[in-house]
Amino acid sequence: MKKLMAAMMAAVLSMSLLTACGSAAEETAPAETATETTEETTTAELTTEEEAAPAEEAAAESSALADGVLNVGTNAEFPPFEYVNDNGEPDGFDIALIKAIGEKLGVEVQVDNMEFASLISSIGSKIDVSIAGMTVTDERKESVDFSNSYYNAVQYVILPEGSEIATADDLKGKAIGVQLGTTGDFIAEEIEDATTSQYNKAVDAVNDLANGRLDCVIIDKNPAMVFEAKFEGKVAAVDGAQFGFEPEDYAIAIPKGDTALADQINTALQELIDDGTFDSLVSQYIEEN
Ligand code: GLN
Repeated sequence: MKKLMAAMMAAVLSMSLLTACGSAAEETAPAETATETTEETTTAELTTEEEAAPAEEAAAESSALADGVLNVGTNAEFPPFEYVNDNGEPDGFDIALIKAIGEKLGVEVQVDNMEFASLISSIGSKIDVSIAGMTVTDERKESVDFSNSYYNAVQYVILPEGSEIATADDLKGKAIGVQLGTTGDFIAEEIEDATTSQYNKAVDAVNDLANGRLDCVIIDKNPAMVFEAKFEGKVAAVDGAQFGFEPEDYAIAIPKGDTALADQINTALQELIDDGTFDSLVSQYIEEN
């Protein structure tokens, strides 16, 4: 029975993942989010062979992996995707996912916890890739490539309990807290007459909101829900769709032009989806929260 439930859940989740990728490809980035990478080629090659080649051998190895280490940048201020655990280590869905990818690729994963706004510029120098609940955007694609997307998100609006803010119009002229350099920050910048306060740590923004120093915080759905629970009774998280915010997709950022690494990561990601690991990480880190 438990097994059947697990299998059903896995089926539903992988369906929703596929839908997520599909709709993202249509809506925001037709050429790139899910289809631009060489994943299609890889899949085609794999299916013509008798047995699928493991991720480790799926493509010419990227030079980023030559030392046997994948250096990963994250910003561990974004629960449940990344946070610092009780042992002081970066942990969360993204961290578990990239470690599982590293295992498939036969490399050690080293996680570097840094500011979100520094991630993109560090890719290809200080770090090989970044996993940080990072939304695929056209602007970022000028500097980095992205893996296939692995999660579908939307910005939420966190409000003080009892706030009357309910529509996009209501946000005009308000004091808005965001995490520096995020898509929430970009949205806030476009809101007429709004004053944006940029924080390095999202939790500090929510803290200021709870203390009456802000009118709202704009941040991704899942962290918004974690913060709503953490500041229970003080704040409420509202779906950004109500404010006209568009769906977003998370992907791993990769050095521009490193198609070998993109191939390897995409193949490993697909294997983790196919073998159920991905869904069990979703249950463990996202649905439990
Ligand atoms: N998804 C948002 C972005 O990419 C926020 C990510 C984050 O704060 N870690 O900008």
